[in-house]
Order: sequence, then structure tokens, then C-alpha cells
Amino acid sequence: MLKDIVGRHFPDSENGNDVEIVSPERYRILRRKIVALMAVVSILPLLALAAINYYEHQASLTSEIQNPLRVLVNKSRNSFEIFLAERTSTVSLIASAYPFEDLANEKVLNRIFQVMRREFVGFVDLALIDSKGDLKSYVGPYDLKGRNYAEQAWFHQVSIKGKYLSDVFMGFRKFPHVVIAVQHTAEDGRSWVLRATIDTSQFDRIIAAMSLEPGGDAFLVNRQGVLQTDSLLYGKVLDKLPFPMPAPSFETNVVSMVTPSGEEAFLSYTYFADADFALMAVKPRPSVLQTWYSVRIDLLVTFLAGVAAIFVAVYQITNVIIRRMRESDERRLSAIHQMEHTQKLSSIGRLAAGVAHEINNPLAIINEKAGLMRDLIGLRPDFPDKERFLAQVDAIIASVNRGRGITQRMLGFARRMDVKIEPLDINRVLTETMGFLEREAQYRNVSLERELAEGLPPIPSDQGQIQQVFLNVLNNALAAVPDGGLIKVITADLDERFVAVSIEDNGCGMCEETVKHMFEPFFTTKKDKGTGLGMSITYGIVKRLGGEIQVRSRQGEGTTITILLPKKQAEG
Ligand code: ADP
Ligand code: MG
Repeated sequence: MLKDIVGRHFPDSENGNDVEIVSPERYRILRRKIVALMAVVSILPLLALAAINYYEHQASLTSEIQNPLRVLVNKSRNSFEIFLAERTSTVSLIASAYPFEDLANEKVLNRIFQVMRREFVGFVDLALIDSKGDLKSYVGPYDLKGRNYAEQAWFHQVSIKGKYLSDVFMGFRKFPHVVIAVQHTAEDGRSWVLRATIDTSQFDRIIAAMSLEPGGDAFLVNRQGVLQTDSLLYGKVLDKLPFPMPAPSFETNVVSMVTPSGEEAFLSYTYFADADFALMAVKPRPSVLQTWYSVRIDLLVTFLAGVAAIFVAVYQITNVIIRRMRESDERRLSAIHQMEHTQKLSSIGRLAAGVAHEINNPLAIINEKAGLMRDLIGLRPDFPDKERFLAQVDAIIASVNRGRGITQRMLGFARRMDVKIEPLDINRVLTETMGFLEREAQYRNVSLERELAEGLPPIPSDQGQIQQVFLNVLNNALAAVPDGGLIKVITADLDERFVAVSIEDNGCGMCEETVKHMFEPFFTTKKDKGTGLGMSITYGIVKRLGGEIQVRSRQGEGTTITILLPKKQAEG
């Protein structure tokens, strides 16, 4: 009963559903869902953007690196092809421009050879071979007199195709050479083969002209993967490449590969159209992709920073949302409870009023009859046991008075249901309110002292509300003191504006943190036993009346709550 009056103490059993609505678990799940959803929604596009950016950038960088390499390889292949084509056509021209007899004459052949050497670098020797494969004449450093080439593969090839270009071989003085052979068929049907050996040091010059960066490499290979020029990475001329040859194609291709030293690199290759050669160039990747790597790190850092920022923002926003939601839930709940409570109180009040009224009548009759009895006894001097009877009658009258006091208080409750501002005697209200607590105080051996100032001016207020204020503060004091503790209530006419009511206890006191929060709704240090509403309601009422509350508290020593009530009604 008392608790119902004091504040909104709602037993859990009655409000099982409400407890569930505001359970922390529910908010935790909700928060997790919101955070997850918001994070996904905002991070997904960022992720997609970052991925697209990453691949676009990589692709453009790669093509930026690959294209120049492709162009360079193409250009150099052209140089090689021109070089070989020039020499092939020279040999071809000579084979067709001179009759067989002239060419067979070593003197004439020598003269032609000297002109050729003057015009084109690289010619080493020149030989005429007849259609049976016999060497007819020769100019050059070898002694080849009497040789027959009829059984040799190259001779077959030149007889079929009319032209032959050999792979590189180590020839005279251990220099790499190639052989160009051309067959000519005269109008009379005779045919012969003119064969020239070319020094391939020119190849190295073409490769040097590619001016590759450090770590790069370029070389000529045949279709079997045998080096036709020296390579920086894969050995000397005539060594075999350590990797299989890529499939022949007419295009210039770029592939990724790993160099023997373990570096990532691009390999560009192109096959010759008229020769069994391929030109290859290797460009190490780290140097060319350095910029890309730094961009990638920037990208990653930006992405991570973005994600972190989003998470922080999402978390903060979610926290705010959840807090607002929770607060509004709690407000709603407390409003519902307050309504329930008010209704309960009003029905209790009506009941109490009814009961008080019903009981007041018999009490009045008892009182009247007891008074009559006393008068009658008093009029009869010879009444036997007069003193004892009078004492009994007085006891009846005292009990009746106590009963009346109770009904009076009950009627007070009933009145309190409707807010009615009236001039109140604060001392009377305090005394009445303390009456509710006397039983508990007595039971716990707590002394309730009062030091009430006399002649206090009446305070315009609502009796019910003021009573609630005092009850809330007194209840807290009672909860704070140990058994045998002390609660002291003092009233004073403070100044022309305020009357002060001070409620002092020698209980557990509060730390600074608790004092800071004690007026907040739902703040309690009493775990399940408190609702944290008492002080917030008190604060609301006092403020509405235009008053003030002051708190002085020391942990372990006690608390003094001083309520200042205005003597004049607050405006509005
Ligand atoms: P409740 O009493 O339900 O906990 P209140 O709003 O009445 O809620 O009080 C809030 C808190 O303030 C209490 O939990 C308690 O920690 C503190 N408090 C209030 N009055 C006193 C007091 N007289 N002595 C010690 N602590 C107090
Ligand atoms: Mg309380």
C-alpha cells in the first residue's frame, strides 16, 4: 500500500510483457541488426568501387607497360626482317644477274663478292653450287674445293623452295653465322645455287638499338627454342631456352613470366614471317609496376580508413537511435504505469472514502454513547467501581479517536486524487505523512525526530503532491539508514520567498556520481528493489510548484535533502 502511494513501484509479475519490451537483449539484437545492415549497405558500394578502381587501374597500367614493349619488339623484328631480306635479295639478284659461267669463274665471283662486302656489312663468303650439288666456285676463308652438298638438308630445301635461311651456327673463327642460299633457274633450264655466309654480329647491333632498361633482355631464338643471339638472362648463343616456346602466332604477344632470378617480368615475343626465328624481349615487372604498387597501398589505406569511418559513424548513429528508442519505450511504459497507478489510486481512494464514511457514522455513535456513559457515571457519586469504569470509557473514547484519525487520513487520500491547490500547513502535512512511516520505523527501531518551526505561513500547493514529495524523500532516508538509525525532519521559515523542509538521515550516503544522477528517471542503486523514479518524480513536482531541492551527502555519513517551497504560487 505504502509503496503504491510513494511512487510507481510495479511488481514484475504484473508487467511481464513490459519487462520484455525494454529488455537489454532486445536492444542488443536490434543494434546488431541495424549496425550490420547499415554497414553492409554503405560498405558494399565502397567495396565495389574499390574493386573496380583496382582492376581498372591495374589493367590500364599493364597495357601502358605492355603496349610500348609490344611496339618495340615489333619494330625490332622489322629491322631484323629488313636486314635478312636485303641480304637475301642481294644474293638472289647476283644469282640471276650473272650467267653460270661468270659465277663459276672465281675471279669474277671474287670481284662480285668484294662489291657485296662494300655495300652490305656481314658477308663472309660466297659459293656457287650446281644443280647436282657440286661446289663450282668459292670465295671466302674456307677451303671447300670438291665438296658435294647433294645429300644435305639445306640443299634439298633450297631446290624445293628456291630460298634457304639457316639457323645460326658457329663458323669460322668461332663467330656466329647464318647461311643464305638462293636457287636460280636460267631460261635454258639450267639451275644453280648461290650461297652466302653472313656474320650475325649485326643482330647484336639491332638488339642493342632496342636500348632496354637495366634488368631487361632481348634475344632471337629459333622455333626449337635455341638462342640465335646472346641473352643476358638465358645464356649464350646456341644455348637452349629453359622454358618451352610459346605457340607460334602472327601477332606480337605479351605474357607474364618469372625470370631465373625469381623476378616477375613481362615477356613479349613475335615470330618472323619468312624465317624460323622469333624475337623475344623481357621487361622486369617490379620496376614498371612500382607506381602501381604504391597506388595499391594508397587504395588499400583509403579503403580501410573509409570502412573504419563508416563503422564508427554507423556505430555512433545506431547508439543514438537505440538510446532514443529505449528512452521513448521507457517513457511510454512509465506513462502507462503512471496511468495504471493513478487509476488504482483513484479506486483505492474512492474505496477508502466510502469505507471511511461508513465507519465514521458508527464511530460517531460510539463516541457519543461513550460520552453519554461517562456523563452518566459522573452524575452518580455512588456508582460502584466508578474509577475503573471511567478509565474503560476513556480507553473507548481514545480508541474511537484513533479510528477517526485513520478514517480522516483515508479521506485525505481520496481528496488527493484531484490536484487542488490550497493553502497547506506544511507541518501538518509532514506529520501526517510521517504517520505512514511510523510503523516501519518502530519495527526497525529507527528514530524519527522532528523539529518543526511554529507559525509557518501556509504554502499554496496540492496536498497529494506535497505528500508524495515528502514520502519519496522519507522513504529513501528510511532505506538508507541502518536499523536503529536516525531520521530528522526540520522545517523553517527561510526567507520572504521560501519555507524550507530538511530531511536528514545518518544512512549510507552517496558518492558524487550518484548525487549527479539521482534525479534522473530510472536511476537507482537499489538493483531490483528500486525503480529510480522517486527522486525524479519529486524533482518534477517541486519544480512545478516553483521550489528547489538541495542535496548534501557524504558517503558513509548520511544525507540531507532540503526542499524549498515557495510561499506564493508559481506563475503559469
Ligand atoms: P529508488 O529509491 O527507487 O532507488 P530514487 O529516485 O528514489 O530511486 O533514488 C535514486 C537513488 O538516489 C537511490 O537509488 C539512491 O542511490 C540515491 N538516494 C536517494 N536518496 C538517498 C539517501 N537519503 N541516502 C542515500 N542514497 C540516496
Ligand atoms: Mg526511492
